[in-house]
Amino acid sequence: MKSNRKVLMLPGDGIGPEVMNETKKVINWFDKRREVGFDLDEGLVGGASYDKHKTPLTDEVMDKAFNSDGVLFGAVGGPTYDNLPFSEKPERGLLRLRKELGLFANLRPAIVFDALADASSLKKEIVSGLDIMILRELTGGIYFGEPRGINELPDGSKVGINTEVYSTNEIRRVGDVAFELASKRRGLVHSVEKANVMESGLFWRQEMQKLYEEKYEDLKLEHMYADNCAMQLVRDPHQFDVIVTTNLFGDLLSDISAQLTGSLGMLPSASLGIVNEYGIRKSLFEPVHGSAPDISGQGKANPIAMILSFSMMLRYSLDRIEDANLVEQAVTKALEDGLRTADIMQPGKTLISTEQMGAEICNRLDQLSV
Ligand code: NAD
Repeated sequence: MKSNRKVLMLPGDGIGPEVMNETKKVINWFDKRREVGFDLDEGLVGGASYDKHKTPLTDEVMDKAFNSDGVLFGAVGGPTYDNLPFSEKPERGLLRLRKELGLFANLRPAIVFDALADASSLKKEIVSGLDIMILRELTGGIYFGEPRGINELPDGSKVGINTEVYSTNEIRRVGDVAFELASKRRGLVHSVEKANVMESGLFWRQEMQKLYEEKYEDLKLEHMYADNCAMQLVRDPHQFDVIVTTNLFGDLLSDISAQLTGSLGMLPSASLGIVNEYGIRKSLFEPVHGSAPDISGQGKANPIAMILSFSMMLRYSLDRIEDANLVEQAVTKALEDGLRTADIMQPGKTLISTEQMGAEICNRLDQLSV
């Protein structure tokens, strides 16, 4: 008998539901053809949840997320919600999911599809064939460290304070993810900090080195300062395989690496949490882009980032590597065949809608699996 995997879909706002619909087609394709299928459930998040329940995420949806094998998240936000109090803003729904699922490792692949190498703002020969993984620590560091705040001094002037704090445990658990990723890729990890000017950076470097010597000496570890890494990413990105770094530096470096690929509609991401007592790692998969209110409802959204987020779920949460490869091959084939949504349109190519792109990727799945 089939023992299906439970997937919770949270489409959200704007183009979120549009790109999720196309991803559902891909999920259904696998559901019909594989021994182990999917039990799909759906919930409201962000503005859509606020409209109905006056909160960006209900406890009921949070429980569903806890009980799923993986969460697929679309996008949240939009101008209607811009003036809500901070605690009710759509983004709070995503932050609650990240916090309560303990999602400490954020994976952002930067892959340049050959068919789109011209879309990068860098020269084609610098980015062509690029495949790197930025791993950002997501729940620690300066965005969460105490003390923080804006304090008044005795002389009436003020200071703004944030604190970078990392513990051994926080560094080692994200380090383990980095080395595990590298072991399935090209075996190279760059650990990135500012050990030259920050004690927390020096500690990060020492702990990464210790972890490497204890468990991963069959791989390769390099240490790099964050400012140099930013420069190297645009100078010669091919030197990297996996980059592991702190919350703050990861925020910046992942945006630089996104720009190498040239199109927001193509970028998936994964956030992984701790492994529970049953050996299951909590996880959430989402496109890097937002709800794109400027194109929502017009059939212009590129669903590929969302579809590739599902392929990351297959790879990193459900351990279905061949199926993940198949989704990526189908996307590559659709692009090679000249199919383009408006955001990645090039002269001489065929402009298609969100729905057509979903359907065409399913057609390529058919072609590739005969
Ligand atoms: P955005 O990513 O929504 O859009 C930026 C630009 O990229 C827009 O021109 C948009 O049309 C285009 N774009 C984005 N995704 C696309 C796709 N799949 N296909 C084609 N074009 C695409 O960022 P923004 O405009 O700064 O933010 C819009 C809303 O989304 C805001 O409310 C913001 O807070 C929210 N947001 C949410 C998330 C999230 O849910 N994780 C992330 C970023 C922004």
